[in-house]
Amino acid sequence: MKIAIIGGSIAGLSTALRLQNSGHEVSVWERRNPTSSGGFGMLLDQKTLTLLSSLGLRLDPQLQKVTKYEAHDIHSGRVVRRGLDGSFAIQRSTLIDHLKNEIKHHSLNYDFEFTHFEPNSGNNVQRACFSNGHKIDADLFLGADGVRSSVRNLQVPGPDLTPVKTVEVVGMADMNSLPAKSRNTFKKYIHQGKGIAFGIVPCAGDKVIWYFQIDNNKWPQSLGSNHQRNQWLSEELSHWPHQVRRIAMSSRLENTHLWRTTDRDLPLQFHRGNTLLIGDAAHPLLTFTSQGVGSSIEDAVILGDLLDEYESSPHQNLDDCLGEFSAIRKPILEGHLKNGRDLQQRFLGQRPHCIDTYPVSA
Ligand SMILES: Cc1cc2nc3c(=O)[nH]c(=O)nc-3n(C[C@H](O)[C@H](O)[C@H](O)COP(=O)(O)OP(=O)(O)OC[C@H]3O[C@@H](n4cnc5c(N)ncnc54)[C@H](O)[C@@H]3O)c2cc1C
Repeated sequence: MKIAIIGGSIAGLSTALRLQNSGHEVSVWERRNPTSSGGFGMLLDQKTLTLLSSLGLRLDPQLQKVTKYEAHDIHSGRVVRRGLDGSFAIQRSTLIDHLKNEIKHHSLNYDFEFTHFEPNSGNNVQRACFSNGHKIDADLFLGADGVRSSVRNLQVPGPDLTPVKTVEVVGMADMNSLPAKSRNTFKKYIHQGKGIAFGIVPCAGDKVIWYFQIDNNKWPQSLGSNHQRNQWLSEELSHWPHQVRRIAMSSRLENTHLWRTTDRDLPLQFHRGNTLLIGDAAHPLLTFTSQGVGSSIEDAVILGDLLDEYESSPHQNLDDCLGEFSAIRKPILEGHLKNGRDLQQRFLGQRPHCIDTYPVSA
């Protein structure tokens, strides 16, 4: 089958690889240039690693094992510790590069910004069109273009994104800013009731990812200009423990990234005609549960399996096959969505807040 994927990040690339492995004629269309993979890093669980290895990826040397979780309540000084089974951190650029290396070079197209579709008949699309005038025909179109997906807006709209209630300011520091005994520990410093927390995730490549999680209603400065936000963070950091200050100040605040976190209710179906949404375009998740990357890779594997079945059974039609994708994915995603919202409410103080159940998030 000829399959065009709009968006070449984790969902787009892992799906391209899975479909290429089944012999489909795949192309990926990404608006960024090939060198700008951007981002910092992510926590992966054992299940996600197993899925990545089923795609043929061997990431072991690029992974940092994260074996412990430590939550510090700044107000009371209380610390809760627990073991983390099978968690690993990886730089985003490393994961993206590994996926790209496995995909046929000619399938990857950069500097192509999708703008609209040209229809075929009924709900079906004939071709995708790009801002540089290029057009591509395909049998199946996959929207992997992220949280604010244009493919979704045009072809499979469904529920709106929820308002942004929490933002994350993310940065990366060198591992030597972290004491040796903390280099396999995911730490979270929590200011109960203040609407702000600080997370530290040791990552491979001698890096540490850190982030402030912020209630943007309590701290509107977090949504101001970069300059305003950095000034506020510099001043705010003076009230935080030494280790937090050391890590955040060892990397330049100008190099941080601001995430406006949002999600949306699940739609009835993730597809319309021959267009299917995958990854964050289909089901953006709040960052509290760390399930964004894993869910994208799970989409890739499940879709690949369903298309294998579809190709081998002459009586099945594409609509049923894509409908089955929604039927399999929705109950699992519903769980992540509920969990993320529950954890966000606790963070915002809208539900009882207990450090022992504090979100593991990155
Ligand atoms: C630059 C960047 C950095 C990130 N960094 C981190 C991180 O450090 N830690 C973390 O946990 N998560 C990070 N994420 C989010 C994480 O990748 C996703 O939540 C998750 O992996 C799901 O991925 P996705 O492929 O569905 O969406 P995304 O990763 O958001 O990818 C969507 C892709 O579609 C492309 N795109 C959008 N519109 C168009 C268009 N019109 N035409 C063509 N292409 C288009 C975007 O450029 C992007 O590459 C980052 C995402 C991005 C885009």
